[in-house]
Amino acid sequence: MTEIMSEERLTRDEMASLQLRRLRETLSYAKERVGFYRQLFQEHSMTHEDITSLDQIAGLPFTKKSDLVQNYPYGMCAVDPSEIIRLHASSGTTGKPINTYYTRKDQQDWQKCMERNFRIAGITKDDVCQIAFRYTLFTGAFGHHLGAESCGAMVIPTSAGQTERQIMMMQDLKTTVLHCTPSYALVVAEKLKESGIDPQSLALRLGIHGAEPMSEEMRQHIEEGLGVTALRDYGLTEVGGPGVSMECPSKSGFHINEDYFYPEIIDPNTLEPLPPGEIGELVFTSLQKEAMPLIRYRTRDITHLMYDTCACGRTLVRHGPICGRTDDMLIVGGVNFFPSQLESILLAFSETAPHYALYLRKKGPVDDVSVEVETLPEFWALTDENSSDRLMQRIEGKIKDILGFRIHVRLMSPNSIPRSEGKSKRVFDER
Ligand code: ADP
Ligand code: ZN
Repeated sequence: MTEIMSEERLTRDEMASLQLRRLRETLSYAKERVGFYRQLFQEHSMTHEDITSLDQIAGLPFTKKSDLVQNYPYGMCAVDPSEIIRLHASSGTTGKPINTYYTRKDQQDWQKCMERNFRIAGITKDDVCQIAFRYTLFTGAFGHHLGAESCGAMVIPTSAGQTERQIMMMQDLKTTVLHCTPSYALVVAEKLKESGIDPQSLALRLGIHGAEPMSEEMRQHIEEGLGVTALRDYGLTEVGGPGVSMECPSKSGFHINEDYFYPEIIDPNTLEPLPPGEIGELVFTSLQKEAMPLIRYRTRDITHLMYDTCACGRTLVRHGPICGRTDDMLIVGGVNFFPSQLESILLAFSETAPHYALYLRKKGPVDDVSVEVETLPEFWALTDENSSDRLMQRIEGKIKDILGFRIHVRLMSPNSIPRSEGKSKRVFDER
C-alpha cells in the first residue's frame, strides 16, 4: 500500500473551502487575462465577487469545445506565448484538433497530478514503467512519462507499436507496469499468446489504461491476457490531458484530482446541475491553471459522481466509468444507446474475443444495424454451422433483451478485425 497524502483525505468541508478559494482566484484571473472570458462575464453581467459558495458555480456560463476551436490558437490563453513551455493537441477523434498549453507551473502541476494518480494505483520507485502510449502531440505518453518518473520508477519510453520489441523489453528489463490504451493492451496480450509466452513468466503486475473506454468485460480480457491488475485513468486534452482522475485498486470509481479540477454533472439537455449519483455530462472548472484556465468546460463525457469515502481511505470524489460521449451516443429506431453497452453484451460471452465493429446503415426508411464480432480461436477451431448459428442467436437475443432492438450479428474468424495501437475505431455510422 502506498501512503495516502493529506490532500487525498480532506473532509468535504475542507475540500470545499479550498475549491471555493481557488475558484474565485481562477475567475478573477480568467476575467483579467482572457478576452473570451471577459466578454462572457460581461454578457452574463457577473463578477467573481458574486461567488460566495460553490453551488453558485451553477450560475456561471459554460465553455464548449467550439469556443476552443473558434479561439484557436492562442485566444483562450491567459499568458503570453513566451510563458508557455509546452503544447499538446487532441487526437481529433471528433473533428478539429485542439491545443492545450502549459506554463512551467502547469507542467509541474501536471506532474503532481500524474504522480498522485500513480501512487493511487500503487506505483513505487521499485516499479519499471513501460510507456506504450504514442509519443506524439497527444498528451497520453508525456503525462504518463512525467508521473512515473516523479514516482521514482524506471521509465522505458517505448511508445506504441513494435510489439515484439515491447515484449522483449518487458522480459529483459522486468517491466512491472504497462501504460497504454486498452486497445493496445489487447494487441500485446495477443502477441504474448501467439508467441507462447506465459504472462505469468513476466514481471508485469499492473496495466494503466486510458484515452478510450474499457468495459469491465474488456478489463477481464486484458487482466487475463497480460497477467495484471488493469486500472483505468482518465483525462482530456482540453484540461491538460491525463491526470484528471485514476482508479485505485478497489476499482470502485476514478478518484478526481478535485483540488485541481472542480467537477460537476449536468443534464446535457437542460444544462441544469444534477444531484450526486445521477448520470449526466461531466463538466470541469480548472482551479490552478495558468496558461489556459477553463470555466465549466463541457467534456461531453457521460458518468456520475460519488462523494462517499472510498474503500482505499481517500475522500477525493470519484466518477464512475465513462459510458461514452454525448457525441458517441447512437440512436436507432428512437432508442438511445452507447457503444460501450453493446461491448459489455458482446464480451460477456465466453466464445467471443474483444474485437468487434458496429455498422449502422440506412435500408430504405429504417436503420440497418449489424455487428461483426470475432470469436476466440478455441471456439472458431471447433465450430460448425450449427454451433455458430446457436451462438449468433444467443448474442442477438441478448442484445434484443437489453437494448430493445435487433442488431444482426456476424461471427468473424480470429484476427479478421483491424487492431489499433492507439484508440480503436469500432463504430461505423454510414447513415
Ligand atoms: P479526442 O479523442 O477528442 O481527440 P483526447 O485525446 O483529449 O481527445 O481524448 C479525451 C477523451 O478520451 C475523453 O474526453 C474521453 O471521451 C476519452 N477517455 C479518456 N480516458 C478515458 C477512459 N478511461 N474511459 C473512457 N473514455 C476515456
Ligand atoms: Zn479509492
